[in-house]
Amino acid sequence: MSHMKIIKVDVKLLTLPLGKRIKDSIHDFDSIGVVLVRVRTDKDVEGIGFTYTINTRGEGIKSIIKKDLVNLILNKSLEDEKSIEKSWEKMFYLTHDVYRGSASGHAISAIDIALWDALAKGESKPLYHLLGAKSEKAPIYDTDCGWLHFSLEELLKNCSNSLKIGYKGVKIKVGKEEAKEDFERVKAVRDLVGGKALLMIDANQKFSLQEALYRGREFEKYELYWYEEPLIADDLIDHIKLKRYLKIPIALGETLTTPQEFKNFVQSEALSFIQPDVCRCFGITGFLKIARLAEQSHINVAPHGVPELHVQLACSLENVIIIEHTPLLSRLFKDRLEFKEGFLYPPKKDGHGLEIDEELIRA
Ligand SMILES: [Mg+2]
Repeated sequence: MSHMKIIKVDVKLLTLPLGKRIKDSIHDFDSIGVVLVRVRTDKDVEGIGFTYTINTRGEGIKSIIKKDLVNLILNKSLEDEKSIEKSWEKMFYLTHDVYRGSASGHAISAIDIALWDALAKGESKPLYHLLGAKSEKAPIYDTDCGWLHFSLEELLKNCSNSLKIGYKGVKIKVGKEEAKEDFERVKAVRDLVGGKALLMIDANQKFSLQEALYRGREFEKYELYWYEEPLIADDLIDHIKLKRYLKIPIALGETLTTPQEFKNFVQSEALSFIQPDVCRCFGITGFLKIARLAEQSHINVAPHGVPELHVQLACSLENVIIIEHTPLLSRLFKDRLEFKEGFLYPPKKDGHGLEIDEELIRA
């Protein structure tokens, strides 16, 4: 189905309770802000897109979408990938002066995801088929086992459970006040995991360069798959230094923003894995640009959170090697995706296949 036209764009702000409290080294939260975008075409196709925020409600993002971006896509044609690229560029440059970075990245992501969903539905294809399927399933690791507030006992119990379920790896948070406590936790989980799965750690930007180095030299002993966000995310220079001084692979990207910022990190060899989040990094269009430039530098992509969407990208892009299970958005959707033996399966539906739980929106 070609030559669709966008005739309606609807934007909503929701608060999604998690049903539990979650802590890492810098965040402490029990709900998620969700900005939901629905685009409708003249062929009666609806595309659904969304972005999310931690510890803010996302009013600003909603306002950028409503007041600045909607007018750019309303009454525009949605014919093929090129028409999305055209809309993306208009949205990108409109917001580049004033809202460049996280604000524009979140806002444009929500619209761009909705446009890709509508396009794939219009073509009667699952999104990953539209993007060129390479696989029917994506390997997934678990982060929900390793929050920072868990006692050592809880941490080991959770990780052991994740291994039993079959996750390809477990990630635990670090950044305890006392370095010694981090070391104990990493060592204990390393002993538990053995060679059965990958082990990653995540500092959520907590450390100074000195502290990241000091703790990193100890972490190096535990054959970690990566050391995530050791430093404030946009400090390119210190990441270059850290990567030079440590043998442990460095991963980041959930807090990077524009494709240009990703390019700076990739091309300066400041990291080993790149972790864009499709709900933040200017949507699927942004993600594709980032994955392409990572490929040119032989860097693998391990997207941040949102497995419900990243499964589509991992099943279509060669260098997206593993996706992350976090529970942050799962309650937004009607159905759980199929999980079997460490792999997540994309829905057998057109578009991204995600339906929003309407009950929740009414609440
Ligand atoms: Mg992280």
